[in-house]
Amino acid sequence: MSLRDKYEVVIGLEVHAQLLTKTKAYSSDINEYGAHPNTNVSVVTLGHPGTLPVMNKKTIEFAVKLGLACGATIAKEQHFARKNYFYPDLPKGYQITQDTTPICTGGQLYIKDENGVEKRIGLTRIHMEEDAGKSIHDVDVYDTLVDLNRAGTPLLEIVSEPDLRSSTEAYNYVTEVRRLVRYLDICDGNMEEGSMRCDANVSVRLKGAAEFGTKVEVKNMNSMRNVQRAIDFEVERQIDVLENGGTLSQETRSFDALKNITISMRSKEAANDYRYFPEPDLQPIVVDEVYVAQQKALMPALPRELFEKYTKQLNLSEYDALILTDSKAIALYFEEVIKTTTNYKSAANWIMGDVKSYLNQNGFDMEQFPIRAAQIGALVTLIDSGKVSHSAASQKLFPALIEQPEADVSKLAESLNLIQESDTDSLKQLILTVFEQHPDEFARFKGGENQLTGFFMGQLMKASGGKADPKIGNQLLRELIKG
Ligand code: ADP
Ligand code: MG
Repeated sequence: MSLRDKYEVVIGLEVHAQLLTKTKAYSSDINEYGAHPNTNVSVVTLGHPGTLPVMNKKTIEFAVKLGLACGATIAKEQHFARKNYFYPDLPKGYQITQDTTPICTGGQLYIKDENGVEKRIGLTRIHMEEDAGKSIHDVDVYDTLVDLNRAGTPLLEIVSEPDLRSSTEAYNYVTEVRRLVRYLDICDGNMEEGSMRCDANVSVRLKGAAEFGTKVEVKNMNSMRNVQRAIDFEVERQIDVLENGGTLSQETRSFDALKNITISMRSKEAANDYRYFPEPDLQPIVVDEVYVAQQKALMPALPRELFEKYTKQLNLSEYDALILTDSKAIALYFEEVIKTTTNYKSAANWIMGDVKSYLNQNGFDMEQFPIRAAQIGALVTLIDSGKVSHSAASQKLFPALIEQPEADVSKLAESLNLIQESDTDSLKQLILTVFEQHPDEFARFKGGENQLTGFFMGQLMKASGGKADPKIGNQLLRELIKG
């Protein structure tokens, strides 16, 4: 038994999602990534005396959407709180957040565990808050620079229950959060750009122990892989401390991606006292049942439902369903294709095969794919009707469609000379001609040398310019040799 097996890992994640609203959380400043520093900053963002925050309704809408998607309970009244602290990137000296009254409580996300089995991860809460500005330490040699464009942009903080049991589960959870916010169009989910951030609370305990161990909060992971790596390091470190007779203390640690270690930032005792109090400048906002019902009705299809549909109704494999639902754009495209064909498996294969390789080769997103979904549907139908072989469609018709996405699929196949000869009369004629041209082989074939089927099929293909439908050709060949 390895040391790792003695212990159980317990993880709870706090994910911050920056919302894709046009303006900031409590002001009309533009909310955009990558603008020239300190250009989207008004007196409200700076918290100048006499200015007042005004709640951005979109923030509430996005929070309600996410809450509904997770099966959370939506609070009827939104109360806000001030979280006070002093830092150069926080011009107001406080953030407007929700303390004891989060907009969403409860609910869950479903992830896959280490063995690929579905597992429910409970959510503690989702609350609304605003981001701080950004301190930039690596541009100026002498000074730290501050960009306040990010100050006041809306965030949702999604807090999980301590239900995760491994770094892989944590990775899968963050992946699922990202997929969901992208499906809902509320956050771009880009950890590398910081529009989605994650703090990991990690503890270990002896297997079978009733109480949780002391937790450590790890910050500053700027990719999903780093979330996993930080947790892996932290678990090893904690087990090491315990095995050497030490005790763990509750603290916040920072992940150093270059060294692949976590470093202590501050202990629990040194933790900030944020002196929360009710935000005096914002009235409670009512989110009534009618509003919630409206949002529910507008909810797009979500990955989990689509996965169910693809595996249960369309009889696709779990593997196919997973790939098709991985990104919203691909799922939506597939949804469009299957409006025009019922050959779901073939439609799925086209998307996972030819379409995806085209996207990969060109570094394109699904949104940049030139061929309309209905055209792919027509392609599938054309193959199913036996008029075009799969290989001709893949090697010639598909590339031609990329060049002429508006073309009529059948006409394009015709103009490329790809329509297979399945007209039995003319095929028969061709076969008889081939027999005549090869009297010796014909005699042997007739005498029972079945291995000559291949030879005659080859001749038939040659005579038809590659357009003979192989299945029908083969059938006719057998019939004619008997007669
Ligand atoms: P705090 O009071 O430090 O904010 P919370 O109880 O609010 O702690 O939990 C914050 C996060 O830490 C949540 O995601 C929760 O699931 C997680 N968490 C709580 N206790 C533990 C523990 N013993 N081990 C790992 N994660 C934990
Ligand atoms: Mg807490």
